[in-house]
Amino acid sequence: MKLLRLTLQGFKSFADKTTIEFADGMTVIVGPNGCGKSNISDAVRWVLGEQNVRNLRGQKAEDIIFSGSETRQAKNGAEVQLVLDNSSHELPLDTTEVAITRRLLRSGDSDFKINKRSCRLKDIQELLANTGLGRGSLAIIGQNRVDQVLTARPDERRLIFEDVAGISLYRMRKNEGLRKLEKTAENMDRVQDMVALLD
Ligand code: ATP
Repeated sequence: MKLLRLTLQGFKSFADKTTIEFADGMTVIVGPNGCGKSNISDAVRWVLGEQNVRNLRGQKAEDIIFSGSETRQAKNGAEVQLVLDNSSHELPLDTTEVAITRRLLRSGDSDFKINKRSCRLKDIQELLANTGLGRGSLAIIGQNRVDQVLTARPDERRLIFEDVAGISLYRMRKNEGLRKLEKTAENMDRVQDMVALLD
């Protein structure tokens, strides 16, 4: 899955709207310590649906919003858009490019979009499952991650292999099905209680 461009606005150190184009071949981002290189990979992780802010090196959700500097006021929200190349239609959408957008306001409001249409986080997770960019994928390997993979428990390591083997989407659907079955069983119990009362 090729990334075409990333646009950040109000995300961490990127107060102003900034677009990074990923040309063919390899893109290397260089700069002095603390200039925001890792913030770029954090933005990719975030727009793809990361829910644990600690994985983005923050403590609370709003830590990803530009918090101001000596010369700049803090921003009220953060928005990141990632555009993926879909010319091979690997993603089941008609468009040759797919734009995924995530926004968070200080008020706590947040939203996701696929190709400018509002959607749920689940839609993004399902869209990306089996592409190698899904939840817990190894497409982004942060500092310390290599150690974590090597020292992972067998069941944790199995999840990595399942993701690579393309099983994750079915695992997500299975879990959702199991939750619905559980809810239905609870409803059945309630109905049976009511029938017993009527007898
Ligand atoms: P290194 O080479 O040392 O790993 P880096 O280039 O990867 O550094 P980052 O870790 O991406 O740098 O960026 C760190 C900078 O981002 C710090 O200056 C920090 O103050 C700034 N930063 C992080 N979160 C925010 C925020 N919410 N608002 C403003 N600045 C932020």
